[in-house]
Amino acid sequence: MTTLAHFLDGLRCATCHNLNVLWLDPVRAQVECCECGQTALTVTDTDEGRTA
Ligand SMILES: [Zn+2]
Repeated sequence: MTTLAHFLDGLRCATCHNLNVLWLDPVRAQVECCECGQTALTVTDTDEGRTA
């Protein structure tokens, strides 16, 4: 299973403060730091995510 990782340019990790270490995991829909392993869910367009 291949993972299409997209590094997020210009973003700094809030935990280890390294630059350009955050990448988007499209499968899990979360951002992860490749340095310290910090993860965060990507929350965009919350109003459009309504599913009963
Ligand atoms: Zn980090």
